[in-house]
Amino acid sequence: MTTRTEIGSIGEFGLINRLKEKFSLENSSSIKGIGDDAGVIDIGDHYLLVSTDILIEGIHFDLSFMPLKHLGYKAVAVNVSDIAAMNGLAEQITVTIGISNRFSVEAIEEIYEGIKMACANYKVDLIGGDTSSTTGGLILSITAVGRVAKDKIAYRHTASENDIICVTGDLGGAYVGLQLLHREKEVFLSNPEMQPELEGKSYIIGRQLKPEARTDIIHELADLHIVPTSMIDVSDGVASELFHLCANSNLGAVIYEDHLPIDGVTFETAVEFNLDPITCALNGGEDYELLFTISRDDFEKIKKHADIFYIGFMTKKENGIRMKLKSGSEIPLQAQGWKHF
Ligand code: ADP
Ligand code: MG
Repeated sequence: MTTRTEIGSIGEFGLINRLKEKFSLENSSSIKGIGDDAGVIDIGDHYLLVSTDILIEGIHFDLSFMPLKHLGYKAVAVNVSDIAAMNGLAEQITVTIGISNRFSVEAIEEIYEGIKMACANYKVDLIGGDTSSTTGGLILSITAVGRVAKDKIAYRHTASENDIICVTGDLGGAYVGLQLLHREKEVFLSNPEMQPELEGKSYIIGRQLKPEARTDIIHELADLHIVPTSMIDVSDGVASELFHLCANSNLGAVIYEDHLPIDGVTFETAVEFNLDPITCALNGGEDYELLFTISRDDFEKIKKHADIFYIGFMTKKENGIRMKLKSGSEIPLQAQGWKHF
């Protein structure tokens, strides 16, 4: 009898690792395969970067509060973010859509309006795609192609002990914004006369509906002559991403609770929802900030940067992945991340 393994028992990452084991890279131009934010291909004087993400209605977005234009924008941004996570810049995208007759031509054009805005913003060209029908739901999958100088690439597996851990922007906003949108949807469904209570919350709603890839940071790191020793983008939550950097680099880490950057509106809204703001910052997904490590020699260069925060440092693997609390005690960090299964 053949065995049946439930996907939930190994999880998304377990599944990807299991599939990865069955493949090896045969072409000398294939530099990095499964296991980083983008695949890496040697094209001579540069590395070409390729990354794909899929967004599925009901899983990744809810059209009752996600405007189609924003959806198109976000689908591009999350791919540009994966290219940025390799210290590269995206140059082209392809777009694949699965649609049903629930959607009008105008609705699809609305998605493409958002795609176009993102293309203009991130300076990428739409160069193709594919179109198919689905049994009902909307599927949007984008592949981004980018480039990085060979001596500037940042992988997940190349951090060293004592490297400084940095994160950009602020954390948890997209997740708390999503909680707010869910609540307002419920209120609306139970009483359509009610006006949404979103005043003062535009920042976190924007974090959920219109995330930006941090290509600005890629330019700034170049200007500062910093090549991160490792990097990943924050799609699942900073704790989960830190686990990836540590696992791939064969290291442990210590981060400081009071160094985690949390926006004021994120903080107060989390409290309103009886959520711990720190948990939201660590495990809320979809911030699309950059988590990276730098050599101690580069610390002076970023110390006063308004949008790059020092949150900890890499340690020996044996130390595990820990968080130093405000109280002074240390706890092992849990990587909750997003569980699809
Ligand atoms: P990210 O969150 O940065 O988009 P993922 O966690 O989705 O990264 O993927 C991790 C790695 O696994 C990437 O290298 C990705 O290309 C690869 N991967 C994910 N799903 C599959 C799949 N179904 N087949 C092959 N490789 C995959
Ligand atoms: Mg990524």
